[in-house]
Parts: sequence; C-alpha cells; structure tokens
Amino acid sequence: MTNNDPYWKLKPPSPTPDDELCSCLGDPAVVLQPHLSCNPISCADCNLEVPPERLGFSEQLADELASWRTFHDCFFHLWLDSAEFEAWAKSQLFDPQSPVNTRGLALRQSLAECRPCYYWWFLDTDAEDFQQVSMCPRCKRNLSSRGSRSVCEDCWIIVAN
Ligand SMILES: [Zn+2]
Ligand SMILES: [Zn+2]
Repeated sequence: MTNNDPYWKLKPPSPTPDDELCSCLGDPAVVLQPHLSCNPISCADCNLEVPPERLGFSEQLADELASWRTFHDCFFHLWLDSAEFEAWAKSQLFDPQSPVNTRGLALRQSLAECRPCYYWWFLDTDAEDFQQVSMCPRCKRNLSSRGSRSVCEDCWIIVAN
C-alpha cells in the first residue's frame, strides 16, 4: 500500500485500479474532466475513468489532450496552493473565455467526434460565497438535469453543484 510509504508522492503513480474504471455497458457519453491523474476522460454516467483506447482517437488528439491537461493543472495547482495566485487562478478556471477553458472546450469538440462528450465545469464548492449554478456559465441558458448533475446541452458543459 502506498499509504505506508512516506515517499509515495515522489514516486510514479500506479495505474488506475480496475474498480476505478468505467464498466458501464454500451458507449455512454464521456466528460473531459481533469482530476490530477494522467487521463482526463471520465464517464458521464458513473463518473469513473474511461481508458482512452476505448474511444480510439488519434495520437495527435492524445498529444493535445495531454498538453492541455498539464496546462489546466497549472491553474488548478495554483488554486490549490491557496496563496499568492489563488484568486487569479480561480478566475481563470471560472472564465468561459479564458485560454484554459477555450482550449478545453475546443478539445471537447474534437473528442465528441468519437463519443458524445461534456466539458466539466470548475466550481469552488467550499468557497464561502459559493452559490449553486443554475445557468450555463458560457451561454447563460438554464441548465437541465442529467442524473445528479446539471448540463447545458448547447455548450455540452456539465456542472456538479
Ligand atoms: Zn461509466
Ligand atoms: Zn451553454
């Protein structure tokens, strides 16, 4: 177990365990959702990771996704760091026009050529001023519910309030 190893954070991550991989039947929609692991693709139904080979996109798209994941995580880590750059990083993650979101939304569109794909919307649910999101952050239309989440079917944005 990594928990007993004080140095586990300095070692390569282990592969995602099988019970954290999507086992839904059929080809459910996916979500472009960076979560601090190598693969930012998860299942829109069960929220578990979807191995990229199940979608079978091009090596070029894999490359672009990996670059964007690293780019996204820069902002995410600055926010998690909760220091000098926290507020700035959060504003970048919230802004539908920021480079991290415009690039991410473009990649969502590329992924959707393989399978219907949503874009995970960043929320700071622990913030003191947190308010539930009822309108799409991008087009301001009302969100509709999809299971326990809300989605904008025009922008393919998914929100977990
Ligand atoms: Zn699933
Ligand atoms: Zn929208």
